[in-house]
Amino acid sequence: MWDTLPDAARSIVKELIIHGPQSRTALAKTLHLSTGSLTRLTKPLVNAGLLVERDVVHDPVNGRPTRPLDVAAAEHRFLGLKLTADRIHAVITGLRAEVIAAKDEPIDDHDPEAVCRQARRLLDELTGAPVVGAGVTIGGNGRAATQVGGELLVDAPYLGWHQVELRPLMERALGVPCAVTNDVAALAHQHHWFGPGRGLRDFALVTIGAGIGYALIQHDHLVAAAEADLGMFGHLVLDPGGPPCPEGHRGCPTAYLASRSVEMAAGLALRREVGYDEVMRLAASGERSCRTLVRESGRALGRLIALVATISLVKTVILAGEGVELARVAKDDLDAALTEHRRGLPGSVEVVIEDDDFREWARGGAVVAIQSFVTGSD
Ligand SMILES: [Zn+2]
Repeated sequence: MWDTLPDAARSIVKELIIHGPQSRTALAKTLHLSTGSLTRLTKPLVNAGLLVERDVVHDPVNGRPTRPLDVAAAEHRFLGLKLTADRIHAVITGLRAEVIAAKDEPIDDHDPEAVCRQARRLLDELTGAPVVGAGVTIGGNGRAATQVGGELLVDAPYLGWHQVELRPLMERALGVPCAVTNDVAALAHQHHWFGPGRGLRDFALVTIGAGIGYALIQHDHLVAAAEADLGMFGHLVLDPGGPPCPEGHRGCPTAYLASRSVEMAAGLALRREVGYDEVMRLAASGERSCRTLVRESGRALGRLIALVATISLVKTVILAGEGVELARVAKDDLDAALTEHRRGLPGSVEVVIEDDDFREWARGGAVVAIQSFVTGSD
């Protein structure tokens, strides 16, 4: 039934997933449908158990008692996966990307088929109930994916993968449709439907961690980009006199913000090995060399956000990723640099700093699976 649904029915489901339960009259008004068509479109969805009627309330539009429509969110489960160089992160979510169960563990064997088998084992461990679909996100530096004969071939050097047809392998192992996506793109989709980007037609996402990621939502759609172009973002020169990056040039976001760059610069100053989280703690507690370093990185981040907002014309920039604590520790410097590079106008860009929960990456995979299910695309 789901494959042959008209677009208007899909819009109803999408509206309810993103904005919550609504009366039929409110839904009809939002989606510019007659109440007659709305009833006709929703009836098979209610019969199929995808939509449910909630308890009677008074309709906010006309005051009459009504039973709002909602999606049966917890009854429809999705699997989200994120693969890093050494770990597999898995979450089970409902239709609103609410996490029902989560687990991460080391990758047993990097062979693609072995990874797919491990994903299947995790799925069975995490839920006894069947899932509707799955989404895998892959990221890291230098990844490229090409489309050959309609199938996405995945290059993930950090996993030792070259031109792997991951989707059919995963689908065979999991027994459900599976989407394969860039991890930053998946996170942007997640924020758009279920995070601070909900209801926004335009925003940018910048991720800080092992690498620096970027995604742009414009007119409600993710701007498609080639992997090679996305890789440019982390090496855009912000200051030619800045610190060196591993690629040999100076003053790019990778040099200022990538976890390894921050650890190396702090290690030189402290004359010992130091981890990213400790650098942030030391900077927050006022240790002089870490404080100076993190403040400089915060200013570079402010300049980067100013560039993103000025060129793409977005008013909201969301910061996420496992290194996002830097934006909190150096918030004053970030704000000052952002204002300075926006003609001295404070508050012209809203900066939203997200939690640095690594599970969010796997949740992004589940969101892409949910979107494929709702929109009928892959
Ligand atoms: Zn660079």
